[in-house]
Amino acid sequence: MRLSFSSARDIVRMVRGKEVSAKDVVEEVLDAISRIDPQVKAYLRVDEEGALKQAEEVDRRLARGEEIGSLGGLPVTLKDIFCVRGEETTCASKILVGFYSPYNATIIEKLRDNGAIFVGRTNMDEFAMGSTTENSAFGVTRNPWDLERVPGGSSGGSAAAVAAREAIVALGSDTGGSIRQPASFCGCVGIKPTYGRVSRYGLVAYASSLDQIGNFGRDVYDVAMVLRVLAGHDMKDSTSADIEAPDYAAALDEEIRELKIGIPKEYFGEGLSAEVRAAIEKAIKALESLGAITVEVSLPHTEYAIAAYYIIASAEASSNLARYDGVQYGHRTKSHRDLEEMYTKSKGEGFGAEVKRRIIMGTYALSSGYYDAYYLKALKVRTLIKRDFEEALKKVDCLITPVSPTPAFKIGEKVNDPLTMYLSDIYTISCNLAGLPGISIPCGFDSEGMPISFQLLGQPFGEGTILRIGHAYQQVTDFHKRVPPVADRAASA
Ligand code: GLN
Repeated sequence: MRLSFSSARDIVRMVRGKEVSAKDVVEEVLDAISRIDPQVKAYLRVDEEGALKQAEEVDRRLARGEEIGSLGGLPVTLKDIFCVRGEETTCASKILVGFYSPYNATIIEKLRDNGAIFVGRTNMDEFAMGSTTENSAFGVTRNPWDLERVPGGSSGGSAAAVAAREAIVALGSDTGGSIRQPASFCGCVGIKPTYGRVSRYGLVAYASSLDQIGNFGRDVYDVAMVLRVLAGHDMKDSTSADIEAPDYAAALDEEIRELKIGIPKEYFGEGLSAEVRAAIEKAIKALESLGAITVEVSLPHTEYAIAAYYIIASAEASSNLARYDGVQYGHRTKSHRDLEEMYTKSKGEGFGAEVKRRIIMGTYALSSGYYDAYYLKALKVRTLIKRDFEEALKKVDCLITPVSPTPAFKIGEKVNDPLTMYLSDIYTISCNLAGLPGISIPCGFDSEGMPISFQLLGQPFGEGTILRIGHAYQQVTDFHKRVPPVADRAASA
């Protein structure tokens, strides 16, 4: 079997046991990228030379008998939203072209200390605003299962790369679904941990009270293994939690018998596609046959989540993005008469349409006279939504829901209709408003061959439980093992 098809678990084991070298692994992943990415376009940049150098270093350490770390030799692919010292980070925005970070994100240091190898940066919606990756300033990423469809977003490049076997594992960020939804559109596993579980230091901010770093893999084990390294307290992020991260992977085999899974009735109403519903109902049956107990619960304020989210996220974005003024980062306009025009032209040229829309909406919601009516109201709704979850999670260990109302749709289908696009986030955004962990697990395909996933939403810091349920489900199903045609063709070519 080709190494680029292997799991992270196998790669780490094989490198440690010297069955393969880290260099062999990296070479195969780079080869897969060169065959597959011209079609999928998941990567914005691939660092071939740097990746090979890092691999040689792991091999040298191994040869000297030194410790290589729990991810020693594992290629990791990054969404282009993390700061790496001396490297460009663009957030798929023209305004950040030419921005080279002077420091490392905390997760970069952690991964590096544990022997991971960075291969490249993936495409995304500009500043993580979007649900399809079509808002990138640098072109469209394609869904590996059907190249005419979107991979989801905003971490669409990372999800597509993992699903298309041109990445083993990848990192993303999730503000309102940006890990779970593309994972579901592409048929891989994606987790958004509890707010505060992973340090956001060095993650370019979109909406700071909602943003959380998380990761993608082809199975739950791989996701659990990498999450352990990412998780933990960080002095550099005052919102990171001082709660020890358990060894998620080691606890995956514990039984799920007697665990209680809530089915929120508001998540199965109008607008949910019949095929998605059927796939999730089947998954619920499978979990029941593994001994889990399911009960219906209610999250009564669900219908207000989208309105509240888009006000809060845009308000925070309008504040966070004020720093891109043409002076401190990246792009500056070539000609300007005075300072004022330098600001307006730099921003006008640097930001894309969706980012401008959010800045305008957010500034409006925060302006005097509207603050109470919109922003403050949205914060109150957020509290009600959080309480809904607290009530429901008193009775159950986690919740099961759809990830998205439909499987991946066609490129161009919704991009000119922002409201319809926002509405498609209905099942993922409440989780961010409440700060809870969520995971998306492949559970079927529709009649057109597009992947479908279910979502598990856990207790605060209950990543271990939702990972365990996902893992148990993957022991009795094989949806996560299917390979998209584009990767199959590349492998046999
Ligand atoms: N689609 C949502 C938005 O555009 C969520 C994006 C995200 O999670 N980063 O805001």
